[in-house]
Amino acid sequence: MSAPGIEMTCPACKREALVRRKPKYDGFKKVGEELSCAQCGHVFDSEAEVPFKQARKPALFQADDRPRTPKVFRGDENARLCRYCAEYVVNPFTQRCNRHRRDVQATDTCRDFTPKPSPPPESAAAEGAAKP
Ligand SMILES: [Zn+2]
Repeated sequence: MSAPGIEMTCPACKREALVRRKPKYDGFKKVGEELSCAQCGHVFDSEAEVPFKQARKPALFQADDRPRTPKVFRGDENARLCRYCAEYVVNPFTQRCNRHRRDVQATDTCRDFTPKPSPPPESAAAEGAAKP
């Protein structure tokens, strides 16, 4: 009889101990097991009373506890470039902002940015000026 000890936290001696199993006999007939603390000898009435150490349960994941990853789309920064602004005017020698009456760079950004209306198709714009 070499039943492996099972770990438990003994309620009597408050120590982590192995459960000692000792077969109980009624005469020559095995009627059960006596479970006792290997440290202090505390006897348990039944196996159900043994505070076995449980394998640690996996922590329950709660989706709400997870840090939310803020999804910041930085793409809008590009849209605020002067070159995409309705007030942005390109001349052969300069780039100007109609709103602020000053020279700007295409890569400037502006807090008064006004999105261009959908740009006219190149072909349509060229049609009027195009010579036959
Ligand atoms: Zn004990």
